[in-house]
Amino acid sequence: MFETDTAFHAGNFAYSQRSVGIELDPVTNPAYTQAQYSAVAGLSCQIAARHGFPPNREHVLGHSQVNPVKSDPGPTWQWPHFLWLASPCAQPSAQTLKASVVSPAPDPTAAAGRVGDLSVVLRNDGSKAWRRGANAAE
Ligand SMILES: [Zn+2]
Repeated sequence: MFETDTAFHAGNFAYSQRSVGIELDPVTNPAYTQAQYSAVAGLSCQIAARHGFPPNREHVLGHSQVNPVKSDPGPTWQWPHFLWLASPCAQPSAQTLKASVVSPAPDPTAAAGRVGDLSVVLRNDGSKAWRRGANAAE
């Protein structure tokens, strides 16, 4: 099975034609495991990056949203947690990455070739949380 193949995964042919479907193991549903969240977020991240869209709620839908007969992923699926895990693949924009200086730093001093300390307090004015280790260029 390839992404270019069309399945009837969502039970909605229009959506099935223009989406990539991911199914979770129904045996463990509705008690989704961290391993499932990580796997789905990682896969969604890769798919989103490959096709050039952010893995957000505008682009990542539950099957239940496109077909009322479907119930997955269901009410126990933690969308905020999934989106947080998938967020490293989100494309930054002027709206998501925006900051303002709260307290300007004093002029740092450092001799040529030496390291100087500089501390600046910034406010996150964007719509995306800053996370340690996240690369804004991702
Ligand atoms: Zn499904």
